[in-house]
Amino acid sequence: MYIAMLSQDSAIKVRLAKLASHDTLTNTENFSAYTQDIESFFRISRKDNVPLTMMMFDIDHFKHVNDTYGHLAGDRVLQHAAMVVQTVIEENDSNINFYRTGGEEFNLIFPNYEIGETETVVYQIFSAINNMEVHSDEDQISISISVGVAELTNDDKSPIDFYNRVDNNLYHSKRNGRMQVTIA
Ligand code: GH3
Ligand code: MG
Ligand code: MG
Repeated sequence: MYIAMLSQDSAIKVRLAKLASHDTLTNTENFSAYTQDIESFFRISRKDNVPLTMMMFDIDHFKHVNDTYGHLAGDRVLQHAAMVVQTVIEENDSNINFYRTGGEEFNLIFPNYEIGETETVVYQIFSAINNMEVHSDEDQISISISVGVAELTNDDKSPIDFYNRVDNNLYHSKRNGRMQVTIA
């Protein structure tokens, strides 16, 4: 009985831990998991002198998707986009980490990746999401994404510096007309 309670207790702890680090809508890791993970990846990359890259993407005109098809359809689009990314990750390398860092904004951390290797995966995701169709009632919903990518450099004094450079690249993709990838 006591053993049963103990194991139930630890099962609950596992579930609570998962809830705290995951986004329930898309089943990706959440912003809190991202901030924890990037700290340690940053540290490891510095200590072992190994490369580290990051990709951020944001769905273009997502407000328009909600306004046109409804919030529930918008939720389904987010779920599908996340599933597409998970599939690309599974097909490439399960060491790639995937987070939902904002409403319609996602982040991937590539430990041990230089920019060239990252690019291959980035363009697979870019093309898969831009080509996916989500069925909702009579509608087929398509979306596009804007992407920013960068590799950690010695000038990045903190994970935030690194994040800001990736974010600037994403912003550049938006400003430049959306549905594009900026790698710098
Ligand atoms: P941009 O191309 O500049 O990114 O335009 P945008 O419309 O995507 O950006 P904006 O920031 O204006 O709007 C983001 C929208 O995303 C507004 C918000 O309602 C929606 N959103 C955020 N989280 C969720 C969610 O969990 N579900 C749904 N359905 N919509 C969400
Ligand atoms: Mg957006
Ligand atoms: Mg956004």
